[in-house]
Amino acid sequence: MAKTYDVVVIGGGPAGYVAAIRCAQLGLETACVEKWINFKGDPALGGTCLNVGCIPSKVLLESSEQYHHVKEDIGNHGIRIAGVTLDLDQMMARKEDIVLQLTHGIDALFKANGVEWLRGHGKLLAGREVEVTAQDGAVDVVSADNIIIATGSRPIEMGAAPVDNAEGVIVDSTGALDFRQVPETLGVIGAGVIGLELGSVWNRLGAKVLMLEAVEDFLSLVDNQVARDALRQFKKQGLDIQLGTRVIATQKTEEGVRVRYKNKEGEHEVTVEKLLVSVGRRPNTDNIAAPEADLLFDEGGYIHVDDHCATNLPGVYAVGDVVRGPMLAHKGSEEGVMVAEIIAGQPGHLNYDAIPWVIYTNPEIAWVGRTEQSLKAAGIPYKTGSFPFSANGRAKAMDVTAGMVKLLAHAETDALLGCHIIGPFASELIQEAVLAMEFHASSEDLARTIHAHPTLYEAMHEAALSIHGRALHKINL
Ligand code: FAD
Ligand code: NAD
Repeated sequence: MAKTYDVVVIGGGPAGYVAAIRCAQLGLETACVEKWINFKGDPALGGTCLNVGCIPSKVLLESSEQYHHVKEDIGNHGIRIAGVTLDLDQMMARKEDIVLQLTHGIDALFKANGVEWLRGHGKLLAGREVEVTAQDGAVDVVSADNIIIATGSRPIEMGAAPVDNAEGVIVDSTGALDFRQVPETLGVIGAGVIGLELGSVWNRLGAKVLMLEAVEDFLSLVDNQVARDALRQFKKQGLDIQLGTRVIATQKTEEGVRVRYKNKEGEHEVTVEKLLVSVGRRPNTDNIAAPEADLLFDEGGYIHVDDHCATNLPGVYAVGDVVRGPMLAHKGSEEGVMVAEIIAGQPGHLNYDAIPWVIYTNPEIAWVGRTEQSLKAAGIPYKTGSFPFSANGRAKAMDVTAGMVKLLAHAETDALLGCHIIGPFASELIQEAVLAMEFHASSEDLARTIHAHPTLYEAMHEAALSIHGRALHKINL
C-alpha cells in the first residue's frame, strides 16, 4: 500500500522547501520529493536559488565587486594597494563552498523538522497520489491529503544560440557562474536581470561585455527615471548595451562564437569568446502530472492557480516560479508559507502588491509597488519626492554617491504607492518601504519617523519629506 502523508511537496527549491518546513512546523506529516543532482554528483536540496541562482550569483557579485573596488576605487580613500591580482580558482571554490554549506543546511533543517526527503522525480497522479522515480529508475507511489507542486523554472532556449554548459562556450546562467577563466570578451543576449548581474561580474573581473537586448525599452519593469539612470551608469562602467537588437544566428569558431545580429542600422557580425543566453525563464512543467490527473495550465504554460495558490484540483496547490507572478525566491517562499498555513486551517495570506525586487548590480536597483509610468497609465493621481545619495553624508563617507531614492504617494490619501531606489545598499533600504506599505503607511508617516544620522536611510526620510516640499538637505523645487 502507498505510504500516506498529510502533505507531499514536489520540488525542494525556496518555494517547496519552505512550504515543507512550515507544514512540518504546523504538525503535518510532510515529505518533499526532489531530484536535483549538484556539481559534485550528489542529490541536493535548495533548487535553482541555492545551487545555481540567487546564492552563487550573489557570491560572485560580492567577490567581483570587492576585487574591482580594491583595484580601482580604494585609492580615493587614501589607501594605496599595489599588485592586486585575481585568484579565480579561490573565488569559485568559495562560491562552491557557500552553496554546499547552504544546501546541506536545508537537509539539516528537514531532519530537524521531521520532513522526509524522497529523492527522485515526482509526478502527480490522479487521486492525490505522487509517483516518485529514483535516479536508478526505481518507482514508488505515495499518497497525501494535500500536494504542493513547486517544480520551479528553467532558462528559455533560443534556436539561434543553442546552449551547451558542459562545453562552456554558449552558456546559460548556470554556465556563466562557472567560467574557469575570465573571457576576454563576453556576449550577452538579453539585458534583463541575469544579463546585467552576470555581465557585471565578468566586466568587473576584466571581460569586455557586449549586451544585445531585443527591446528598445531598457529594464521596462523598472521606474523609467531609474532605468535611464541605470543605463547611464552601466555604460559608464563599460557595459556595451545595445538596445533594439535581434540575434539572427551564431556559429562556433576557433576564437569563440560568431554572432550575427540586426538592429535599426542593419546587420552586424561580432566574435565573442563566450556567449551568455539570458532571455528569461519558463516554468518546469514537463512530466510533472499524468494526463488523467487533469491539472490545469494557463496560456503561458504555468500551473493555473487562484490568489491562494490552489489549483483546479481539490487539495492540490502550486507555488513559486511554476505559477504566475514574479520569478523571485522570496515570492515563492511566502507562497509556500501561505499554502502550508491554509492546509493547517489557518488564514494564509500574501500581499502581492508589496513584493520587493532587487537587481544586484552596482549601483543596486530595488523597488516595490507602482512605477510612475504605471500610475500615469492607470490615471491614479500621485505625488513624488526624491533625494540623491550625492547629498547624503554616509554615502559620501562610503564614496558611493550615485543614484537616488524616489517615493510615490497617492495625491489625495498620501498612501505610499511605490519606492524606487538606485544606489548603495538599495537591496537593504527597500525593506523600509516594504514594511511601510505592508502597514499602509502614508509618506507623512515616513517623514515623521526618526532616522539615525548619518545613515543611508536618511535618503528615504528626505525623499518622504520632499513629497511635502520640506526636504531639509536639498532645495525644494
Ligand atoms: P526552483 O528554485 O527552480 O526549485 C524547483 C526545484 O524543483 C528544483 O530543485 C528542481 O530540481 C525540482 N524539481 C522540478 N521538477 C521536479 C520533479 N518533477 N520532481 C522532483 N523535483 C523536481 N531570485 C531572487 O529572489 N533573488 C535573486 O537574487 C535571484 N537571483 C537569481 C540568479 C540566477 C542566476 C537565477 C537563475 C535565478 C535567480 N533568482 C533570484 C530566481 C530564483 O532562483 C527563483 O525565483 C527561485 O529559485 C524559484 O524557486 P522555486 O522553488 O519556485 O523553484
Ligand atoms: P528577464 O526577463 O529579466 O530578462 C530577459 C531579457 O531578455 C529581457 O530584457 C528581454 O527583453 C530580453 N530578450 C528576450 N528575448 C530576447 C531575444 N531573442 N534577443 C535579445 N533579448 C531578448 O530574464 P532573465 O534575466 O533571464 O532572468 C529570469 C528571471 O530570473 C528574472 O525575470 C527574475 O525573475 C529571476 N532573477 C531574479 C534575480 C534577482 O532577483 N536579483 C536575479 C536573476 C534572475
